[in-house]
Amino acid sequence: MVSRVIPVERFDLVVFGATGDLARRKIMPGLYRRWLDGQIPEGSRIIGAARSRLDAAGYAELIREALAEFVTEAELADARLEPFLSMLSYVAIDATGTDGWQDLRAQMRDDVVRAVYFSVGPSLFGALAERLHAHGITTPDCRIVVEKPFGHDLASARALNQTLAAHFDEQQIYRIDHYLGKETVQNLMAVRFANILFEPLWNAQFIEHVQITVAETVGVDGRGSYYDRSGAMRDMVQNHLMQLLCLIAMEPPNRFDPDAMRDEKLKVIRALDPVASGDVVRGQYAGNGGASYTEDADNPESRTESFIALKAYVSNWRWKGTPFYLRTGKRLRARVSEIAITFKEPPHSIFGEAERWKENVLVIRLQPDEGMDLRVMIKEPGPGGMRLKDVALDMSFAEALGEGMQIPDAYERLIMDVIRGNQTLFMRSDEVEAAWAWVDPIIEAWEKRGDVPRPYDPGSSGPEDALMLMHRDGRRWREIK
Ligand code: NAP
Repeated sequence: MVSRVIPVERFDLVVFGATGDLARRKIMPGLYRRWLDGQIPEGSRIIGAARSRLDAAGYAELIREALAEFVTEAELADARLEPFLSMLSYVAIDATGTDGWQDLRAQMRDDVVRAVYFSVGPSLFGALAERLHAHGITTPDCRIVVEKPFGHDLASARALNQTLAAHFDEQQIYRIDHYLGKETVQNLMAVRFANILFEPLWNAQFIEHVQITVAETVGVDGRGSYYDRSGAMRDMVQNHLMQLLCLIAMEPPNRFDPDAMRDEKLKVIRALDPVASGDVVRGQYAGNGGASYTEDADNPESRTESFIALKAYVSNWRWKGTPFYLRTGKRLRARVSEIAITFKEPPHSIFGEAERWKENVLVIRLQPDEGMDLRVMIKEPGPGGMRLKDVALDMSFAEALGEGMQIPDAYERLIMDVIRGNQTLFMRSDEVEAAWAWVDPIIEAWEKRGDVPRPYDPGSSGPEDALMLMHRDGRRWREIK
């Protein structure tokens, strides 16, 4: 398949935290793949910054090793690897210190797009923003990219927004939620707004309920101390799952434009009802011979949830009465992210009671095997009379788009959007704050009543109570497989 990649403008991209896990695992491999795809113009520069004492050659070596781990053998063997590595330079800077800023300033050019990626812990954002501004590194058209977590609650998110706003305009700030960079998530918008087929049915009159599942098989090993202060609600629901909910529930914006999109998502968040305490289930994976969360997090007393299931309602004309069930957790049976939209029964069956109708379900798979699957009723073949059967109209994007079509990683897409100056897939300050304003009371209620998460077996589908959340409404979760 011929690539339809459109080159971006030449740029200087500074990556703070250039020696860290995110830079080595996602940012640099992503940039390298964009380079191989011909999207990054010659003359662009990537400038690493962190405290480690390295020179440009040492940094290039570090990234060569990272690429050896995180890109394919064929990509690594490509002759364009060396020119890519020669785009890299490095400045040793402590974000809280005074040295190195002039060096960095001297490397920046005025006639190219300028961006700074904050790939450091959030406690450094304030110091970094202040120094970048004070040393004239972030000119008014410079973009800054901010990683999650964006705050710990509404108050801290607001404080962080204010810190950034003291030095940058909102148009300069790109808050990453990498879920929005996933190809399938963007496809959701294409499916909804580029087809006439679904939109007339996309409301409470025709949609029975929606399930959003993000299941992981990994535990918290390695990230235990961060995760233990956060938990599934803050780490996954407040950002990724709520963003998916917004994309399903939002009204069509009048154009595919950053503020038009974000205005509509914000309206959804603001229309969410407070969640009743009986409509949320917290879980923690525990033992039975397998892994246990408290061991992984190295905190025997921990009450942090590694699993959440909840029922949410969007109170507006379109959605009144249709529940949105969200579920996410670690150490579950399989690694699956999907959105399943279950439609209501036809008002009348001409085939009689015996022929039980099965639900029409539209499943949008985010991972693995990104694609879409629509379950429809057909006649079962054969002479047995009019017997009905539900079958899948199943499409794998990789198959449908042809062999060799590589679905780009979310980070690749998002970094290129930063260079293009397109904020559509990044969260605006009011969106982030509204999401915290919805999540905070749920967490506060647990804290007030000393809620203890329900145990679940590693490799299962989560705690029993989560199944009950659906059963008592006469519904079933889709299997995690
Ligand atoms: P990490 O592996 O701990 O790396 C942190 C980086 O920051 C290192 O390059 C470190 O290098 C640098 N650093 C630390 N203190 C510094 C200072 N005072 N001045 C300048 N540089 C400093 O962390 P990470 O996993 O890459 O995560 C970076 C950010 O991305 C965090 O906000 C994290 O929450 C977020 N994030 C990460 C992931 C992921 O998959 N890793 C996913 C989502 C979000 P030196 O020690 O050499 O200074």
